[in-house]
Amino acid sequence: MQSPPESPGAPQASNAAWQARSLRALWHPCTQMQRAERMPPLPISRGQGPWLFDYEGRRYFDAVSSWWVNLFGHADARIGAAIKAQLDTLEHVMLAGCTHAPAVELAERLGALTADVLGHAFFASDGASAVEIALKMSFHSWKNRGQGGKREFVCLRGGYHGETLGALAVSDVAVFRDAYDPLLMRAHLAPSPDARQAPNARAAADTAARALEQLLAERHAHIAAVILEPLVQCAAGMAMHDAAYLRAVRAACSRHGVHLIADEIAVGCGRTGTFFAFEQSAAHGQPLQAHEWPDFICLSKGISGGYLPLSLVLTRDAVYESFLDDDVARGFLHSHSYTGNPLACAAALATLDRFAHDDVLARNRAWATALTTALAPLQNDARIAHWRQRGMIWAFDVREDCAGAGFAERFHQAGRAHELLIRPIGNTIYLMPPYLLDAADAAWLGTQVRRTLDAVCPPADAPVAGGTHAA
Ligand SMILES: *Cc1c(COP(=O)(O)O)cnc(C)c1O
Repeated sequence: MQSPPESPGAPQASNAAWQARSLRALWHPCTQMQRAERMPPLPISRGQGPWLFDYEGRRYFDAVSSWWVNLFGHADARIGAAIKAQLDTLEHVMLAGCTHAPAVELAERLGALTADVLGHAFFASDGASAVEIALKMSFHSWKNRGQGGKREFVCLRGGYHGETLGALAVSDVAVFRDAYDPLLMRAHLAPSPDARQAPNARAAADTAARALEQLLAERHAHIAAVILEPLVQCAAGMAMHDAAYLRAVRAACSRHGVHLIADEIAVGCGRTGTFFAFEQSAAHGQPLQAHEWPDFICLSKGISGGYLPLSLVLTRDAVYESFLDDDVARGFLHSHSYTGNPLACAAALATLDRFAHDDVLARNRAWATALTTALAPLQNDARIAHWRQRGMIWAFDVREDCAGAGFAERFHQAGRAHELLIRPIGNTIYLMPPYLLDAADAAWLGTQVRRTLDAVCPPADAPVAGGTHAA
């Protein structure tokens, strides 16, 4: 645990100085700024691998991959080199009427990962925009086929798809949604398959699938698409479900002529153990058949390795072809200024290279086992419930009588003191580390998470029903 060397040439300002200037000039996302005065942001001067360093040389393990985007650590030499090479070649060109190798190659390679079932890529810059695109494309595609009455969307309880008005309309996380509810288009809210609701994951999946089937049977003439996060509803607090649910939803959508949008913004890019989470819906581990894929996949977050903003929507021939016409207005005229930015595409290609060359999915399986082992003492801990893991996501809920008021904030603060950057969602503690844990890191991480929990909810107090530790 030796302290890292000062980064050469960094301005010699203290953490406090950056915090004070930040609070004067910056309006931070997802933050009540009045609270930020007491809980100032962590000033980060540089990153290396899974570590972030503040301006006073203290280190923090990025246990949440900087909001789930960073896959191969910070300052990765290979991704950095790819961006630098692209920077000296072509930093940007508009993608309407122009094209370029990084965007073409990225679209081709992602299409190939779906066996070319989703062989058409539409680019944007952030996740919410990808969701907007998928919703608009679905509606417009039906309209172009003479089914303009299909204008409703179905989303799931606890689902999260971003915070622009269209994406928020199909999201169900109250803290983000409630203030804007009067502005939002109405969507159908189907039950979540969250495995925590039933004695077993399969029962929860079956119940939720039956409810969705019934809704589609009744309303399919008006419904354009179902949107969901395959396998893990992340922002809801890492709510995990059985892959059988995805199989059932795919079949129901096909039966009723409704599109299926898989929002893989958080769960894609290997996070759940396969490159696309939806691949796990295949029966008996076979590759998905053409009809078993979703109609749209949204990707963002990890696709650029966490380096640059990039998102995209992959879709099928049938959707693409429904826009082909002599009439310009039947085309998909949506656009963003930085769509298909070459630097971001170069970062994404370097990220895909890592998957191809380093056998990342297999390596992650080994590391996941090591971290699960390191966290094992928590599995039967009286303070926690619903221990769960999928690929490179671990989560558990701290019981309310242990957690008390303001738990997430207190745990985050205690994490800093234990060299962890970690942000619980409500009472759910989760880890979503970058894909470069070695055995020593995994053991260290397991220990630090347990120590942080002990600092916030002392273990001896756990069995006392009704006790609280509100700060
Ligand atoms: C983060 C996220 C989004 C939104 O992406 P932004 O880039 O933050 O707009 C959408 N869907 C899911 C599942 C996400 O996790």
